[in-house]
Amino acid sequence: MSSFVIKCLDCGFTDSYFPTSASCPNCNSNWREAQYDYEDLAKTWPHQLSDRPFDLWRYRELLPVRNPNPSISLGEGGTPLIRAVNLGMMLGCPNIFIKDERQEPTSSFKDRQAAVTIAALKEAGITEMVAASTGNVAISYSAYAARAGIKLWAFVTSLVPAVKMREIALYGSQVIKITGSYDQTKMIAAEFAKQRGLYLDMGAKTITSVEAMKTMAMEISEQLTAILDPNSGGAETNPVWRTPDWYVQAISGGMGPLGVHKGFSELKTLGLVDGIPALASVQVEGCAPMVDGWKRGLETAEVVTNPRTHIETLATGDPGRAYTILRQKTMESSGVFESVTDEEAFRAMHVLAKMEGISAEPAAAVAFAGLFKLIRAGVIKPSSTVVVNCTGHTMPTEKHVLGEGWTRDVVLSSKVMEETPQEGLLAALNRVAPDRFPRIAIVDDSSDARRLIRRILQSQGNYVLFEASDGKEALDLINREIPDLVILDLMMPELDGFSVLDALKAKPETANIPIIVSTAKELTLEEKNRLEGQIKSLMQKGDFMNDDFFNEVKSSLN
Ligand SMILES: [Zn+2]
Repeated sequence: MSSFVIKCLDCGFTDSYFPTSASCPNCNSNWREAQYDYEDLAKTWPHQLSDRPFDLWRYRELLPVRNPNPSISLGEGGTPLIRAVNLGMMLGCPNIFIKDERQEPTSSFKDRQAAVTIAALKEAGITEMVAASTGNVAISYSAYAARAGIKLWAFVTSLVPAVKMREIALYGSQVIKITGSYDQTKMIAAEFAKQRGLYLDMGAKTITSVEAMKTMAMEISEQLTAILDPNSGGAETNPVWRTPDWYVQAISGGMGPLGVHKGFSELKTLGLVDGIPALASVQVEGCAPMVDGWKRGLETAEVVTNPRTHIETLATGDPGRAYTILRQKTMESSGVFESVTDEEAFRAMHVLAKMEGISAEPAAAVAFAGLFKLIRAGVIKPSSTVVVNCTGHTMPTEKHVLGEGWTRDVVLSSKVMEETPQEGLLAALNRVAPDRFPRIAIVDDSSDARRLIRRILQSQGNYVLFEASDGKEALDLINREIPDLVILDLMMPELDGFSVLDALKAKPETANIPIIVSTAKELTLEEKNRLEGQIKSLMQKGDFMNDDFFNEVKSSLN
């Protein structure tokens, strides 16, 4: 049984917990948090974990539910921590891990919030509740509310994709569609709850929500310990658990990082971890009040009244005090806030799917776009251990994410098929077969480097790729295939890149093929002169994730 009190963040007043009491009885503040008997827990807690399943309720002594009711669980929490081997190689940062929150019961990390909150409501005998949502929260709450026999009024903005709205309705929740901003939707939901005296989800101010998000920190710490210290016998017996150097998450209201920070802080209080990871919170540029506030050094964020982004899930224009609190925690942890464009997020979505086999919704891809940006900027160092939260798979891939030409329509005319079935099929196949894709030769003696370039190109478009591992093989290949572009390494044993270049330029068939030279070392003046006028561009290895590389490839092919 969990023993805890609710402490006011403003006046320090402590009280027992009841879900419908939304503010401090002493000073009326809405900002309160749960506190546990850490001293007592420090003695007993890690040992209690050993015979428990790996799910959210494993950490029940640190959750504000007195007696968790197994009958309303849907198997929340306990999601995998996956090493992103290919992204790590591409970014030169080998210890990137993905906390795969898509593997929650309704495919988003909000299931943690819903599981704990609904359990607390059920325990308190509450039968009706109100939540405003940009989609995923309402789906999570709907699933758990259905299980617990609680009626949910779900206020959603009209921008929420219709498929998500229908899923909310399917669980039996009443969907109320508001044509207005998310902030307006929240205001209407609050007014509705007040008039009817119903429990209202208050986003990052909801005590159970922040507590629920903590469990990600605990899972990450246990999982990293098992991965990085494989001989330690697991976290239960290891006196010190591992923490990542960075925790990266896309944010709207900021609840995720607030909870995760509290989780690591509690582990530290319990003496289980040494430090707390730096928080990197990522927003979309079209609605980034927290990033703007952070970069301008403001304690209070300026409200964005007219969000301009396709990624509605993240369109909280008014973060309120959640920003001020998260800013404080971000400063304490030496973290950052960063923003990315919609396009950068869509591109990260492709890279993640094509390089790691993980299809995430755009809101989750925002975190990865932020990761790429922070590594490129040198904020996240190559030696850092990084955990990225990957949530949300509910939304089917939307058309604007894929762009033109993602499908090819083939209509078999019955007349042609009857008369000349063979010809009809051939004509149809001609439409299926790709137009001629650009052909690129990759020449490098390092198989890792070739693999990296191949994966980057494949993740960005359709190419026919050839590879050669030395100068002689390269010349044979290029003379035979006459590619549209050659990406050429300079330093190779025997016949080096300079010699390959000279040989290609000497033959009319190959003299005009554009060449991008990649080099690992700083070139001498003499070497630079040899390349002058002979090549399309010179790229430093390690710059491949830089947009310049892909832009060079594209412009070389035009
Ligand atoms: Zn107070």
